[in-house]
Amino acid sequence: MLVDCSTEDKFQFSITCEACGKVWKSPAIVFSKARIPPATEGKKIVYATIYGREKKNAQMKALKAGEKSFSRCPICHRWVCDDCFMVCEDLDMCGQCAEKLNEKGSIVGKI
Ligand SMILES: [Zn+2]
Ligand SMILES: [Zn+2]
Repeated sequence: MLVDCSTEDKFQFSITCEACGKVWKSPAIVFSKARIPPATEGKKIVYATIYGREKKNAQMKALKAGEKSFSRCPICHRWVCDDCFMVCEDLDMCGQCAEKLNEKGSIVGKI
């Protein structure tokens, strides 16, 4: 569900609500070696490795933050934002599924 929109010097990820198309972006995290040109070929590899590691961490953080405002609908398996996700009596699901299945509930983003 996470889309990588990182650049050479910062890490950022986005999630798009599959119901309404709203895009959420994780706060950008600056690469610790951003704008420091590697002095040697060796350093280039070292920096690339650090980049990979920091990106992985940033991705995990983004996923955690994203999960706070996005939910996976257990019926249609789409990732939807809080404005499209409903807390229903028996099973929480997206608004479209709730309508289809005639389930009553309230939109998470409006509770
Ligand atoms: Zn939405
Ligand atoms: Zn659904």
